[in-house]
Amino acid sequence: MTIVRLEKLRKVFDNRVVAVDDVDLVVNHGEIMAVLGPSGCGKTTLLRLVAGLEEPTSGRIFFDDRDVTRLPTQERNTAVVPQTWALWPHMTVFENVAYGLRLRKKRERLTEGEIKRRVREVLELVELTGLEERRPFQLSGGQQQRVALARALVIRPEVLLLDEPLANLDAKLRVELREEVRRIAKKLSITTIYVTHDQEEAFAVADRVAVMNAGRIQQVGTPEEIYYKPANFFVATFVGRSNVLRGRVAEAKGEAVVVDVGFPVNAISPHRLKPGDDVEVVVRPEDVYLGGGSLRCVVEEVVFLGRYYQTKLKCGGVALKAEGPRPPAAPGEEVAVEVTKAWAFKP
Ligand code: ATP
Repeated sequence: MTIVRLEKLRKVFDNRVVAVDDVDLVVNHGEIMAVLGPSGCGKTTLLRLVAGLEEPTSGRIFFDDRDVTRLPTQERNTAVVPQTWALWPHMTVFENVAYGLRLRKKRERLTEGEIKRRVREVLELVELTGLEERRPFQLSGGQQQRVALARALVIRPEVLLLDEPLANLDAKLRVELREEVRRIAKKLSITTIYVTHDQEEAFAVADRVAVMNAGRIQQVGTPEEIYYKPANFFVATFVGRSNVLRGRVAEAKGEAVVVDVGFPVNAISPHRLKPGDDVEVVVRPEDVYLGGGSLRCVVEEVVFLGRYYQTKLKCGGVALKAEGPRPPAAPGEEVAVEVTKAWAFKP
């Protein structure tokens, strides 16, 4: 039952690399917060600061009302699942999971019987019962990942910190295990921070997502808010496979604008725009409707991707990608197109 609160948290390496840049963030009790961003944006550093594995340059970290900023890692009661899992190769599954408890045995006055009981309990939770005596090399990748998770959970942490925990697995297992991680974190009501660069994974696992770039949090919100109300150009283009079109505002009324990108597009904007402003217009491929509309485009290429067809269009001189459930037309043919949704951002 812990609320994690970061206040103006900052980490500068070697006096010049600003890895985490004045981050404010609240993760509510029992909430799963994904930290989503590209490589090098500071996600791991943020996680390590919360774990106490890295000391902040400035700013503060609270667990509920306790200021833990200067507390050593072993006194924080956080557990980290690293990308590499870091299992002990010579130990059995049981001993790998028991390891953290044995370190705490004295302090928490744990008996051998209690250790056994708690390890069994957590192995059952991650569905590894029966594999106690195996060593990591005798397990599949997915099973090793579960051991890493069990090892983190066995100490009953207040805060669970996962750093790209599924990055070493193939696509199918990643989908299975992200659901597992969510199920378990929710069952235990444990406050969780989940670092990933994969948008779909972030959306699937988390209650809310913090999108990060260049050390800064760009937006915090539910997956729907992030997807449907991107706060800025970075967020709009990082989630989804967007078209980016350059244009100039022709009309503006509140947040609704008409932008000339070679043809007129109705867009919404978080900025106060006025006619004549140069903007970048972001259009999701699924918001390019084929088979009606005032725009005339030529089909250049159609690619079948399983769940949908991706169509490359040329509309006047402007290239546009569309995605939909049916192939619209053959290459070379003309189709009527409507852009049903778009966002306009200042460059
Ligand atoms: P990735 O997804 O590639 O792991 P990330 O978003 O987790 O990236 P960080 O590992 O937090 O990013 O790194 C953020 C920035 O801080 C990078 O520019 C990185 O090179 C730098 N950095 C990280 N750790 C150190 C360190 N110990 N010393 C110096 N610079 C560091």
